[in-house]
Amino acid sequence: MSEPIVKFQDVHKSFGDVKVLKGINLDIKPAEKVAVIGPSGSGKTTIIRMLMTLEEPTSGDIIVDGTNLWKMEKKGEMVKANEKHLREVRGDIGMVFQHFNLFPHMTILENCMTAPIHVKKENKEDVRKRSIQMLDRVGLGDKLNNYPSQLSGGQKQRVAMARALVMRPKIMLFDEVTSALDPELVGEVLEVIRDIAKNDDMAMVLVTHEMDFALDIADKVLFLDEGVIAEQGTASQVIEHSTNERLQEFLHRFR
Ligand code: ADP
Repeated sequence: MSEPIVKFQDVHKSFGDVKVLKGINLDIKPAEKVAVIGPSGSGKTTIIRMLMTLEEPTSGDIIVDGTNLWKMEKKGEMVKANEKHLREVRGDIGMVFQHFNLFPHMTILENCMTAPIHVKKENKEDVRKRSIQMLDRVGLGDKLNNYPSQLSGGQKQRVAMARALVMRPKIMLFDEVTSALDPELVGEVLEVIRDIAKNDDMAMVLVTHEMDFALDIADKVLFLDEGVIAEQGTASQVIEHSTNERLQEFLHRFR
C-alpha cells in the first residue's frame, strides 16, 4: 500500500463563531480520484481552499506528500508556516476554479507559460513545448495566440485545465468547474476532466453536482454534510446504494 498523497487529520475550520468543518479525517492515495458532494454550505469549497493554501485550518493538520501545508519545523518545533514554505507546497497543487481566473492581458499560451517560468523558474522553451502539448490535448492547439476574451466559457475552462496541467501537480483540484457554464458547454469540459482522470496518474479532488460524472470517474465519493464527512465509499456505494437519509434527500435534488 502506498502512502497517502493527502492526509487530513482532525481538521476544523471556523469563521468567527461559525464552525464550518468539524473534524475532517481523510486519506487520498496518489492516483485516487475523489468526488466531494454535499449541500450548499456544507464546507466543500473550504476543504478545497485549505488544500490550495488559501484558507488556514483553525486546528488539525493537512499533509501533502509528507509535507505539512500549514506548519513547518523550526529549531525542532512545529510553527506556523511562512510564505516561503507555502509557496513551495503550492507548486505541487493545481487548481481549476469555477470562474476560470485567466489573465485577460495574456494570450492563452502565455497564460499557460507564466507560472512554470516565473514561479518554478523552469526553462522557457521546455515550458513552451509542454504548454502547446497541453493546449493541444484540451483541443485548443489552434488558439495559442488568442486572448481569453475571444473564447467561449467552455474554451476558457479548458485553458484553465491546460494551465494547471503544465505545472505537473501532484494533485489537481476542481471546484464546481462546470457550474458557471451554459449547459451546452458543460459536456466539453467534463470530457477533458474525464480524459485527465482516465489517463493521468495524479490525485484529483472534484467538487461536483454532476452525479453521473462522479459515478463514471471517481474512485471514492465523500458526502459532506454540515461540516462532517457523513458518508464515504466507492461512487456506487455512496451514490447508488447508501441508506443515509440526508444523502438520499440531497441526491433526489440532483438526479
Ligand atoms: P460549500 O462549498 O459546500 O457550499 P463552503 O465551504 O463554501 O460550502 O462554505 C461553508 C460555510 O462557510 C458557509 O456557511 C459559508 O457561508 C461559510 N464561509 C465560507 N467562507 C467564509 C468566509 N471567508 N467568511 C465567513 N464565512 C465563510
